Amino acid sequence: MSAVWHPFTQHGLGEDFPLITRGKGAELFTKDGGAIIDAISSWWVTTHGHGDPRIAKAIADQAQQLDQIIFAGFTHQPAEDVAAGLRAIMPESLTRVFFSDSGSTSVEVALKMALGFWTHRGESRSRIVVMDNSYHGDTIGAMSVGARGVFNQPYDPLLFDVTSIPFPEGDAQPTFDALEAACRDGAAALIVEPLVLGAGGMKFYSPQVLAEMRAICARHDTLFIADEVMTGWGRTGTLLACEQAGVVPDILCLSKGLTGGAIPLAVTMASEPIFEAHLSTDRAKMFFHSSSYTANPIACAAANANLAIWREEPVLERVATLASRMKARVDALGETLPIRNARISGGIAAFEMGEGDGYMAGDVPAMMRHCLERGVLLRPLGSTIYLMPPYCITEGQLDTVFQAVATI
Ligand SMILES: *Cc1c(COP(=O)(O)O)cnc(C)c1O
Repeated sequence: MSAVWHPFTQHGLGEDFPLITRGKGAELFTKDGGAIIDAISSWWVTTHGHGDPRIAKAIADQAQQLDQIIFAGFTHQPAEDVAAGLRAIMPESLTRVFFSDSGSTSVEVALKMALGFWTHRGESRSRIVVMDNSYHGDTIGAMSVGARGVFNQPYDPLLFDVTSIPFPEGDAQPTFDALEAACRDGAAALIVEPLVLGAGGMKFYSPQVLAEMRAICARHDTLFIADEVMTGWGRTGTLLACEQAGVVPDILCLSKGLTGGAIPLAVTMASEPIFEAHLSTDRAKMFFHSSSYTANPIACAAANANLAIWREEPVLERVATLASRMKARVDALGETLPIRNARISGGIAAFEMGEGDGYMAGDVPAMMRHCLERGVLLRPLGSTIYLMPPYCITEGQLDTVFQAVATI
């Protein structure tokens, strides 16, 4: 019996787990050599493909040069290069780069930066505004600003109070009104997943709604935190989803595709006023956050290789090609199956199938088994089936994925 306790897994259902030994491009390989197409980018992280040679080489080289160094009181070139590389392609007003190691910690850092900002400015703003159905991670703070439900019910007594605004279904006016009211009450910050709510069910909303929410926050000096942990790195067709709305956040969270999905790393980018609020000769005003592996050099080397790929290769063209290939196949699927609410944004395709809505709807383990038997890794969110493959997935591999979906 294995001693491993897996994430988001009910071990009581007695499932066997495939043992994966290798990954290449859009494929994973099991111990006995079987190929599985990774149609969800190994939980939304793999962008260019598994085993990207440039990223793998950067990791190997850096591991021999400098593996780890305390990041308080020291710096190193890989981290300096990541910060400079991000500054060159991310919105100009995001002048500061704080490193951590996962999407959840990048969110915790963003929330602490927002509260630090208001505290050091001498204003008692601490209320965080969130959108219904959001997901920002599984640590206590990240869960607090995410949707409440079956996933966090046991921990509810530990979660802090937030103000929720409705997800903009059709008419977004109730969303704007609720946000306006919260901001008028002196909210510290709004945290939002731009354009696509991932774990909440791949729910899409328009760039116009995002732009209006940003404008409302700006009018009231409420900080605007964009959690682009999933949507960043081309997932919605642009480097950042925020670009499609022409908005720039005060604080930006990035992780997942930051290293191409090869190794954990995250950054929280902040505008100069946020940094300046912590800038003082008073040590009590420093930003009190660290993790042991902050800006780990090996992870930073992987991020630099990813940044080089973005500079030198036509990544967004690959995403556009993937989008049109998925659109053709989703349209065809809709002609033979009763799928609902089909939608595509860059490298994400989603639709609902079967009865009911929500995470616990549908027999997800059975659907996953069905796809695995056909060499496809999919992990539906209840009745929501989605594809989010690495950008290198081939037409033939997409056909295999859609054949598996068509027979669910
Ligand atoms: C995945 C995700 C997170 C959490 O990232 P981890 O690396 O799993 O901690 C946070 N926000 C969003 C939008 C995500 O999709």
